[in-house]
Amino acid sequence: MFKIIQDHENCISCGTCLALCPAHWQWAQDGKAMPTGGIKKENGHYELETEDVGCSQEAADACPVQIIKIEEAK
Ligand code: SF4
Repeated sequence: MFKIIQDHENCISCGTCLALCPAHWQWAQDGKAMPTGGIKKENGHYELETEDVGCSQEAADACPVQIIKIEEAK
């Protein structure tokens, strides 16, 4: 199991994650990106638990402000 964490406030809406991984990233209502199915936490970060990181790894690697983190969830 993995946890995808996005520091949503610091997203610059460049669209790279959507371009590289449209199956798992979408635009949120505030015009910034979010992981599809992700839940917004009190600290403003979006979190999504998934068994398959898939192309989100490429999105994390390519995000120009490096705000997408992927951790192993317990
Ligand atoms: S690649 Fe990063 S900065 Fe660009 S839209 Fe996605 S999360 Fe936001």
